[in-house]
Amino acid sequence: MQLLFVLHHGRCRKGHCKVAAQRAEATRRVRDFQAPFVACRASDFVGLGALASHEDLRRRHRLHFVDSVRDDFFRRNFTVFVSHQWLGRDHPDPDGVQYAAICASLADLAAKAGRPLRDIFVWLDYGSIPQTCKPVQRLSVLSLPSLASAVDVFLAAAPKALNRDTLEACDAATYASRAWCRAEIFAHFSRRGGDVMYFATADGVRPMFPKPRGGAVCSPCDSGGGAGADFFKSALDVMHGKLTCCRHGHASGQPCDREELVLPLMGLFSEVYRTRGDDAKHIYGAIVEGGGADYYFPHSFDYVTPSKTVVRRVLFGDLPRAIMAKIDADLGLAPAPRAPFVTPGADTRRDAGLLEEKSSSRGFFARPRLPLWRASVSTADSDVRDASLGDSDGRRASGSFDATTPADELLASDSLRHDADDKKGAVARLAATPTTEFREVGLEVP
Ligand SMILES: [Zn+2]
Repeated sequence: MQLLFVLHHGRCRKGHCKVAAQRAEATRRVRDFQAPFVACRASDFVGLGALASHEDLRRRHRLHFVDSVRDDFFRRNFTVFVSHQWLGRDHPDPDGVQYAAICASLADLAAKAGRPLRDIFVWLDYGSIPQTCKPVQRLSVLSLPSLASAVDVFLAAAPKALNRDTLEACDAATYASRAWCRAEIFAHFSRRGGDVMYFATADGVRPMFPKPRGGAVCSPCDSGGGAGADFFKSALDVMHGKLTCCRHGHASGQPCDREELVLPLMGLFSEVYRTRGDDAKHIYGAIVEGGGADYYFPHSFDYVTPSKTVVRRVLFGDLPRAIMAKIDADLGLAPAPRAPFVTPGADTRRDAGLLEEKSSSRGFFARPRLPLWRASVSTADSDVRDASLGDSDGRRASGSFDATTPADELLASDSLRHDADDKKGAVARLAATPTTEFREVGLEVP
């Protein structure tokens, strides 16, 4: 890693060196937060009366800060990531429509998981990300994929509502058209599976990927090829989603958010590709069916300049192919490519000193060892089963919920073990809650 860093910043300025450096950097980007995880207790959240800003919550001492994905906080506590679209320029939810749906859903989640509201922690961008300190805000935004994949439950708040500024009618369809919302779905599903991903409604939670009637497996691709499968494929299509920066023509000449997302997405995709025969079977299958890596992670894109000129810029370049070739070579599935990959992807990072992490001698397996539960249950029909790795100690998720995790071995005390078992039990109860009472998956959600 250090050699790659030296090559990247020092002697080697050739394309293939930069591609190799980016490949390593992409893995580091999703290994831990770039800024602390900040959450509010659900019991405090439902007492706010409306979505409150980070600065307001901080003044009222309602925020809890966690510095690393490896912190015991995530083993002890039940966490919910709230994903949503903003309904106004100055306030994300000026009419309180999303807030009402989130509160009802938190109560529903608490009941289903058998967990009091005070023991549930809520992450929501407006309250968890600084709104006025822009440099820290940027680091928090860059952490979104890591944040979304670190929590226990993914809750999308997308009730029917009107955007106060654009007067656009917003709902689950517009939510799912947003690139950042798609990135959050991609991040959570790629590491956690879809068992505990929900839409928030005024009546409680509705599963984002309902289990087929009578079926025990949550698989978006098994939803009969209907709206569920289409929704899943489009939700993974981050790069063709809508972005506010593009709508405003990148008025200050700033990088497009698509460029900001290149390395975090490549970090997640690396994990998906490496475990595509096992844990990541469904998400990789959807990517292949939806057009493959070349479509989901395009080589270049059209950037609109402040003067409204459209210029073609490199986006992912050769990075996806370089990552796949390296993993295939590592797994012994293919020989190392003869010709080097020479076109690096976009890297908007201009403050490398702020974001650079210590490199790790543990390589790939130094990624966060999150408790994993996945949709996949069978690898029998996979042609890469033998090569798939699972976790570093050989454990694999089985069934829809993996009740034992490598993290257990790290528990240092009976107290922590008790809290972790209690938390996992709550998530297991939630994942096991029948969801087939809902009619169909798709965009018919409120
Ligand atoms: Zn843009």
